[in-house]
Amino acid sequence: MNRLEPLIFELSAPGRTAYSLPELDVPSKDLSALLPPGAVREAPPELPEVSEVDVVRHFVRLSHLNHGVDVDFYPLGSCTMKYNPKINEDMANLPGFAHVHPYTPQEAVQGLLKLMYDLQRDLCEIGGMDRFTLQPAAGAHGEFAGLSIIRAYLVSMGQGHRNKVIIPDSGHGTNPATAVMNGCVMVEVKSDARGGVDLDALRAELDHNVAALMLTNPNTLGLADENIHIIARMVHQAGGLLYYDGANANGTLGWTRPGDMGFDVMHFNLHKTFATPHGGGGPGSGPVGVKERLAAFLPVPTVEFDGQRYFLDYNRPQSIGKVRSLYGNVGVAIKAYTYIREMGAAGLKRVTEDAVLNANYLMAELKKHYLLPYDRYCKHEFVLSGNWQKNRSGVRTLDISKRTLDFGMHPPTNYFPLIVDEAMMIEPTETESKETLDRYIRVLKEIDRETAEEPDKVKDSPHTTPVGRLDEITANRKPNLRWRKDG
Ligand SMILES: *Cc1c(COP(=O)(O)O)cnc(C)c1O
Repeated sequence: MNRLEPLIFELSAPGRTAYSLPELDVPSKDLSALLPPGAVREAPPELPEVSEVDVVRHFVRLSHLNHGVDVDFYPLGSCTMKYNPKINEDMANLPGFAHVHPYTPQEAVQGLLKLMYDLQRDLCEIGGMDRFTLQPAAGAHGEFAGLSIIRAYLVSMGQGHRNKVIIPDSGHGTNPATAVMNGCVMVEVKSDARGGVDLDALRAELDHNVAALMLTNPNTLGLADENIHIIARMVHQAGGLLYYDGANANGTLGWTRPGDMGFDVMHFNLHKTFATPHGGGGPGSGPVGVKERLAAFLPVPTVEFDGQRYFLDYNRPQSIGKVRSLYGNVGVAIKAYTYIREMGAAGLKRVTEDAVLNANYLMAELKKHYLLPYDRYCKHEFVLSGNWQKNRSGVRTLDISKRTLDFGMHPPTNYFPLIVDEAMMIEPTETESKETLDRYIRVLKEIDRETAEEPDKVKDSPHTTPVGRLDEITANRKPNLRWRKDG
């Protein structure tokens, strides 16, 4: 950071304020008498005393230090950092939605309940499922709820001993965590040479203890599994269920559906595929869908319609119970619903078409400069390796990514999936223009040239960002999050 710019605490001057409040019209002494002793401050807190213009400049300056999808390209693979249309925010901000209290009588919020009901139905249609719940607040949370549903179903079938969850080595890190948090044993199966599930490795694990296979398809290499129907049959024949990690559905919308591939339970991330903000930008939502035979186990309440009115149904004896307070992140649901209505069925299909086209365009150009370990047409994303650059001059993927920041672009996902050495996982999304993609290609070509001719420039990067190369381990383990007056 440019330390010529004062921190807000350093601007403080006694008596300077950014607000004026009306005279207190209740006796303040009496108020403090209502509080338990010890809860009343004796001295005012040490807050900076600053003017409105100081405050505004402080926060606007901070906002400029951040990278976001509204600033420039953000090819963070698997995270689907697509542009979030601003009309989604406008809809969620309508007073009739934004000002509703969670305990408003159901008769007074029929419109909102209808929206939730219709969104559930839309997600069923998109995912090929029979029922959806909007409650889980993130993808990982959806996985947890979904696997809990599978466990409850197995118990109801007298199969409660089944506790083995099979996950391919290309799986997202949340998948093993989900298995363990559900009291299951996680077993990894390797990928084959084409990046799909190795059928022999899978067969070896299919016994009477299998509860579920968790799969992402297309997987985190951006590759569709060519054997998905065989895999589904194998798992079902062994008495297990199939869980679809649909956090990122940008490679499937309108073209294929998890339900048709043979999956029993799935989740979507509204904050990826359905264009609602994520990362620092907003709360998430990981709705879970199930096939009919699992519907009884969905968390309560479900949103129902009896032909006349919409209502919340808590009377579901086989339900796994609640997975979140109240009804989920309803604001996110409103934004995703708006997005789906805006796009329509043809628009969603086009999303995947453009996302896949953009990814293949980038891949075709970039594989001339970076190693492409799985050289097949990809879906919405693809994974390069920085091994050529590493072997040539010791420049690593992390260095390449840091150098990308100097060009004002966000790096790709690094070192994931784990099965690719020096992985760079690139997902352009459908909302980027050819001009932006061409600029990104020029940037990565230029960095490749630098790794050969001036590698230190890459290794010491970034050079133009507010802070340089951070000690990421210490920043993670011993974060310094508080300003203290005495340093
Ligand atoms: C993002 C992601 C998740 C986890 O979603 P969160 O909302 O971050 O919990 C799970 N699986 C895949 C494939 C993902 O891309």
